[in-house]
Amino acid sequence: MIYLDNHATTRVAPEVLAAMLPYFSEEYGNAASVNHAFGWRAAEAVERAREQIARFLNCPAEWIVFTSGATEANNLAIKGVVTAAMPRRLGNSNRRPHIITDAAEHRSILDVFKRLQRGGTDVTILPVDGEGRLRPEQVADALKPETVLVSVMLANNEIGMINPVTMIGRLCREQGVLLHCDAVQAIGKLPVDLQLLPVDLLSLSAHKFHGPKGVGALIVRRDGPRIPLEPLFDGGGHEQHLRSGTLPVPLIVGFGTAFELVTQPRKPPFDELHLINPSQAVRNRFLAIPTGWRGPEMSVEMAALRDHLWYQLTSELDGLMINGPKWGERLPNNLNFSVAGVDGEALMSSLKSIAVSSGSACSTAEPEPSHVLRAMGVSDSLSRASLRFGLSRFTTEAEIDVAVAEIVQVVRRLRA
Ligand code: PMP
Repeated sequence: MIYLDNHATTRVAPEVLAAMLPYFSEEYGNAASVNHAFGWRAAEAVERAREQIARFLNCPAEWIVFTSGATEANNLAIKGVVTAAMPRRLGNSNRRPHIITDAAEHRSILDVFKRLQRGGTDVTILPVDGEGRLRPEQVADALKPETVLVSVMLANNEIGMINPVTMIGRLCREQGVLLHCDAVQAIGKLPVDLQLLPVDLLSLSAHKFHGPKGVGALIVRRDGPRIPLEPLFDGGGHEQHLRSGTLPVPLIVGFGTAFELVTQPRKPPFDELHLINPSQAVRNRFLAIPTGWRGPEMSVEMAALRDHLWYQLTSELDGLMINGPKWGERLPNNLNFSVAGVDGEALMSSLKSIAVSSGSACSTAEPEPSHVLRAMGVSDSLSRASLRFGLSRFTTEAEIDVAVAEIVQVVRRLRA
């Protein structure tokens, strides 16, 4: 079976597995044990991983707070800021803290907003346009004197939409409002450089770029005024009192190693991509790309294969409709389209040799059509007949060709 569901999760890279293994067996110390060498070595491994991550993100290692993944990092960022703002605001009962996000965010953002709203926080969930896009002007218009936080994802996990986070961050800074950004889908595909990105809080998850499941981080900017943030858990005071709990040393080692294996794309890969013929790019990909340019190469390569998939499919089939933006503002490894004239369930159950998802695989076994496609105005029947592809750096051209052959055959049969 061919795995093309890399927005849901990715295969652990062999180097990541090898780096983790000793920390499950002989190096089993607790990184908080200060009295013996088992603890010291575990702490060293954690700090090495923190440095690897910091180097990639271009930020000091002290900004990194390890969590169990991005769901927790998103909860910590949003609930942490709102809880810290509460006592100040409660003195004047009319001035509740106000927070802003948009309707295309991941459930681990939207459901936090909804829960906080039930608890009395003033919440704005901005609509997105037909391509899933949020405009900076919408954020500017929604800001109030009570706004404490805006949360906007860097790239969408269903439709690959890239948000104008730099512009939104600048306007938040002008207004003294914190910006949180879920950057889970962006690592290795878009530049994520904290010297350039004006965000205050950033969520990451290791398993989206060939690290292990169950570990992630919240990056907390510390080069400006202190960000008021309350922890979710009380306990041993680990991670600068922001995340108590014994650190999962093997997972953190894997997280750090996964960062060593991706390189920061220096500029958005899509700049070049819509100028070249994609199938030509697939053929020439090793010739066309200068050596030593590995990060962009990985992105360009994934985008070229993704474009190859789309061009092959649309040359064989009609009635395929792209969901989300055209290539320019899209993750290089994402393709999402709906298939007109077929039943969504029949389509999914007929695809035997490729692993893709319809709607969002992240939100467990939910039968509801995708909230992202719904927010974009896609009908429920076209949402159900949508396919989401997520390529990885392990995806090959041969795999794409198998996927194309299967989809073409299944769609023709279902339409017959
Ligand atoms: N945000 C986005 C955009 C995601 O794609 C995911 C994973 N589906 C998450 C958050 C949650 O990450 P984790 O699995 O680490 O909790």
